[in-house]
Amino acid sequence: MKANNSSKKVTVIGSGFSGLAAASVLAKSGASVTVLEKNSQIGGRARIFNAQGYTFDMGPSWYWMPDIFEKFFSLFGKKAEDYYDLKLLDPGFVIFFGKDNIMKIPARMEGIFELFDQEEPNGAEHLRKFLKEAQLKYNLAVDELIYLPSQSLFEYVNLTILRNLPSLDVYNSFRSHVRKYFTNPRLLKLIEFPVLFLGATSKEIPALYSLMNYAAFNMGTWYPMGGFSSITNGMVQMAQEMGVHFKTDEAVKKIVVADGKANSVVTNNSTYHADGIIGSSDYVHTEKLLNEEYRNYSSSYWDKRILAPSCLIFYIGVKKKIVSLYHHNLFFMEDLDIHSDAIYKNPRWPEAPLFYVCCPSKTDPNIAPVGHENIFILMPLAPGIHDEEAIREKYFNIIMDKLEEVIGESFREDIDYKRSYCVSDYIKDYNSYKGNAYGLANTLRQTAFMRPSIRNKKVKNLFYAGHLTVPGPGVPPALISGQIAANQLLKNLDI
Ligand SMILES: Cc1cc2nc3c(=O)[nH]c(=O)nc-3n(C[C@H](O)[C@H](O)[C@H](O)COP(=O)(O)OP(=O)(O)OC[C@H]3O[C@@H](n4cnc5c(N)ncnc54)[C@H](O)[C@@H]3O)c2cc1C
Repeated sequence: MKANNSSKKVTVIGSGFSGLAAASVLAKSGASVTVLEKNSQIGGRARIFNAQGYTFDMGPSWYWMPDIFEKFFSLFGKKAEDYYDLKLLDPGFVIFFGKDNIMKIPARMEGIFELFDQEEPNGAEHLRKFLKEAQLKYNLAVDELIYLPSQSLFEYVNLTILRNLPSLDVYNSFRSHVRKYFTNPRLLKLIEFPVLFLGATSKEIPALYSLMNYAAFNMGTWYPMGGFSSITNGMVQMAQEMGVHFKTDEAVKKIVVADGKANSVVTNNSTYHADGIIGSSDYVHTEKLLNEEYRNYSSSYWDKRILAPSCLIFYIGVKKKIVSLYHHNLFFMEDLDIHSDAIYKNPRWPEAPLFYVCCPSKTDPNIAPVGHENIFILMPLAPGIHDEEAIREKYFNIIMDKLEEVIGESFREDIDYKRSYCVSDYIKDYNSYKGNAYGLANTLRQTAFMRPSIRNKKVKNLFYAGHLTVPGPGVPPALISGQIAANQLLKNLDI
């Protein structure tokens, strides 16, 4: 690995996936990099906590698009397996539509085709056609689009993109696209689920994002043994090998600008001189670290953006095994449109919530005491909504009633650890705008060059990274975002 040999100092604000990716790219090119993190632990939304023998992943749990992780590690002559073990989940995930009404999504394509044929006449044939297009979009996106800084439309003008423009389906909605192929309501729910990761409903998401179905079905659902912190630990180790310094409990309070350039960041404890800065903390917060005249966007701009949802989470330890749960369990008994209305149109606590239950102790024996289960329950929620203990508890009971009824097992009496996490925790822990959990949604008007700019337009050596800028929400996009921001800054620093 290349040692730090440059006099150029770079400060990265925040140590989530985007900050970690940016730090490594910069250090590899010889910059002297310091990552400042407000929390006592590295990893951002992918932190963990330990309690009573359980190890809980606090955020991401779905490992999709393994190629994006490999591509990242390969920049440094490494592989993901140098740092963590990946296990392919089979079933990849299951959907509970009601009691005794469950759909298991097999890991392998033959199984998925069989499932589609069972659900609807010629289902497999339709899926083949649908995925052929989705694969084309995925390849074009990964090879030609998502690593672009997206500063202008002209970046997208190249022959491959122009030739394939009609196939990219940018102007159709995902919802109408899917209905050209499938009619069975269970299959529609299954196909529409992956785009929820983009932070909006299928009506708002461009059909381009059927590429997510290619990722979900063809590339498999994986689990990094030990949980997502094994990825961030690996990234920290690699970054440290290249000389990156990490400072935790170091909240940045101000970015100081002089002569159109950022020249230092001020924390509670110290002032760090910087030739360049990557702000990988939530974009809106990073902008607030600047005097108003240096910000890219006003508060009314942010107010008009569609944020990805926030959520209510319960981290639960159970002192017995729960037979009917799998690793990833989606509870889709209720109407997604009504729950979505409560998130996006008329923000409120949902009347009949959909929820997701992760039970990683089904795969990983080391994250719960022997004979126990480690469970994470997540209910998507409108950002900015008021949350307090009493309402969290009310929803705990609503969810548990439904969950126990549908799986036909009761375990409330066996819970030996429980912690809730909601909107106000996202604000407190991550300086998250309105307590969003996943950043800014990837709707048509918030895709590519229409997302908040990765570059500060007034301060030359300040770039943003993370799930509110390009390319979008989720761990793989955060990894990419850090790389784009770092490469832009390197050009600016001329190293
Ligand atoms: C509950 C949940 C489940 C998710 N599930 C999935 C999933 O299954 N798969 C998937 O791909 N994605 C998932 N995501 C999304 C994914 O985790 C995020 O999109 C991604 O981790 C964001 O990375 P980031 O670097 O942009 O931001 P963050 O991880 O938030 O990192 C930003 C960092 O900046 C720090 N910071 C903030 N202010 C300051 C300051 N003033 N000074 C210093 N540091 C500061 C924060 O503490 C934080 O560590 C999930 C997210 C959540 C919350």
